[in-house]
Amino acid sequence: MTPQRLTHFARGARAAAHTARSAPVFDPSTGEQAATVPLADATDVETVIADAHAAAPAWAERSALDRARVLFKFRELCLAHADELSALISGEHGKVRADARGELQRGLEVVEFAVGIPHLMKGEFSDGVASGIDMYALRQPLGVVAAITPFNFPAMVPLWMVAPALACGNAVVLKPSERDPSCALRLAELFAEAGGPSGVFNVLNGDAEAVDALLADPRIQAVSFVGSTPVAQHVYETAARHGKRVQAMGGAKNHLVVLPDADLDQVVESLMGAAYGSAGERCMAISVAVVVGDETANALVPRLVDRVRALRIGNPTDPASEMGPLVTAAHRDRVRGFIERGVHEGAALLVDGRAHEAVAARGFFLGGSLFDRVTAEMTIYREEIFGPVLCIVRVATAAAALALCNAHRFGNGVAVFTRSGGAAREFTQRVQCGMVGVNVPIPVPLAFYSFGGWKDSAFGDHNQHGMDGVRFFTRLKTVTSRWPAGADAASFIMPVLR
Ligand code: NAD
Repeated sequence: MTPQRLTHFARGARAAAHTARSAPVFDPSTGEQAATVPLADATDVETVIADAHAAAPAWAERSALDRARVLFKFRELCLAHADELSALISGEHGKVRADARGELQRGLEVVEFAVGIPHLMKGEFSDGVASGIDMYALRQPLGVVAAITPFNFPAMVPLWMVAPALACGNAVVLKPSERDPSCALRLAELFAEAGGPSGVFNVLNGDAEAVDALLADPRIQAVSFVGSTPVAQHVYETAARHGKRVQAMGGAKNHLVVLPDADLDQVVESLMGAAYGSAGERCMAISVAVVVGDETANALVPRLVDRVRALRIGNPTDPASEMGPLVTAAHRDRVRGFIERGVHEGAALLVDGRAHEAVAARGFFLGGSLFDRVTAEMTIYREEIFGPVLCIVRVATAAAALALCNAHRFGNGVAVFTRSGGAAREFTQRVQCGMVGVNVPIPVPLAFYSFGGWKDSAFGDHNQHGMDGVRFFTRLKTVTSRWPAGADAASFIMPVLR
C-alpha cells in the first residue's frame, strides 16, 4: 500500500507543505510505513504563524460564551468520531484500541472543563476602593500560542493545551509528534467542522527545526510543551530567552511504594496495568516498585513473574490484547539496550521481554520485562526507559522508600500502597512529587484539577489544564476607574487612595 502523504492544517483546511523534508510514519503492529509526514521548513512555519496571527484578534473578540459553544460542538463531533480517532491513535502509536479510546476520553474531559470558560474567565471587581473609584481585574487572551506534544498521547496531550488555549480566546499552532501526527490533523478538522474559524486551530507538522522556529518567533506569545526532559529544558530556556511564557513538562520515573501491610492482590493488578499498559509508554507509567521488607518482596515477586509471563501481547485491534507494540523500531531497540544494560550492571532479570514469542512477529513488539534487586546506582533505575520494563528495588523501611523517591531527579507521579491511613498521610505529605496516588497506581488528575510534576519532570510554574490552564493562556489586566465631575489639581506624590 502506498503511504498516505500527510499535510499541515491551516486556514481551516489541510494545507500542502512547501518543505522538501519528510519523515515516515509507521504502523507499529506491522512495521510498515503507513504515511509520510512533512517536516516544516521556514516557509511552512511562516505561513502557519501568519494565518494564526491574522485570525487571533477576531477569535479573541468573540464572547467567551460563543467560543464555548464552538468547543461544545467540537466535543460532540469528537464523540461521534471516537472510533475513527481511536483507530488513528492506535494505528500510529500502537496502544490497544480501548486504551486509545480512554486517552481520547481524558482529553475530551478537558474540553468539557473548557466549555465552562465564561465562568472560569470571570475577573474580580471591587467597587468603591476609594471615593468614586472602582478597581477590577480581567483575564485576556495572549494572541498566538504554540502547543508542542509528544508521541505517547496523540489526542489527550494536544487537548490538554488546545482546549483551554482556544476557550480563552487564543489562536493555536499545534506541533504534534512526527511519529503519530494523524490524530492532531483530524482534531483540527473537526474543530473547523464545529464552526471554529479558519486560522484559529492550526497543525504544523515537523521536527526540531519547526519547534526552534516557533520558539524564536515574536508572534508566538506562549509555549506549552510536553515531551522528554532534555527537550523540555531546551524549550523552557529558549522560549524564556525570547521573552515568552512557557510551561514544559518532561520525563519521569514513577515509583510505587509497597508497604508491608499492603493488599498484595491489589498491588499485583495495579503494577501490571501501570507498568505494562500502553507498553510502558506513559509519563505516568510505574517503572519502579519499591518494596519494603524482603518478606513482602518474596511474596510479591513470584506472583508478578507469573503475570508478566502471561501478558497478552498482540495487535492493538484485537480486544484480547493487553499490550501492543512499541511506537518505532528505534524506540524498541533503545528499550532492548536498557535491558542489556540492566543485566550487565547486575540486576536480576526475572522475565526477559526480548524472549517473548510476540517479538518474532512483524512489527515493533517486545514482551514485558521484570527486574529484581535493582539498585539506585544502576542505569535502569536512574534513566527513563519508557518501555514495558518494571524494576523492583528492595528497601528495609518505609523511611528508606520515601528517601529513595525523594532522591530521584524526576518527580512526576508516585504511589503508595498500604492499609494504614497514617502511613499514607505521612508519605503524601513528605514525598517530593507533583502527583501522588494512595492505593491508586496512576494518579492522573482529572480535568478540573491540574497536571504537573516536580523537579526535572516539569519546568515553569504552571501545570497543564484545570485553573492553571486558564491562568497560563490568559494575562491579567487590572483597571482602576473613576468618573470625576471636574479636573483635579496635579498631584506630585504617589497616589494614596482614600
Ligand atoms: P520528545 O521530547 O522526543 O518529543 C516531544 C516533542 O518535541 C515532539 O513534538 C518533537 O518533535 C519535539 N522535539 C524532539 N526533539 C527536539 C529537539 N531537539 N528540539 C526541539 N524539539 C524537539 O518526546 P517523545 O519521545 O515524543 O515523548 C516521550 C517523552 O515525553 C517521555 O520522556 C515522557 O515521559 C514525556 N511525557 C511527559 C509528560 C508529562 O506530562 N510530564 C506527558 C507525556 C509524555
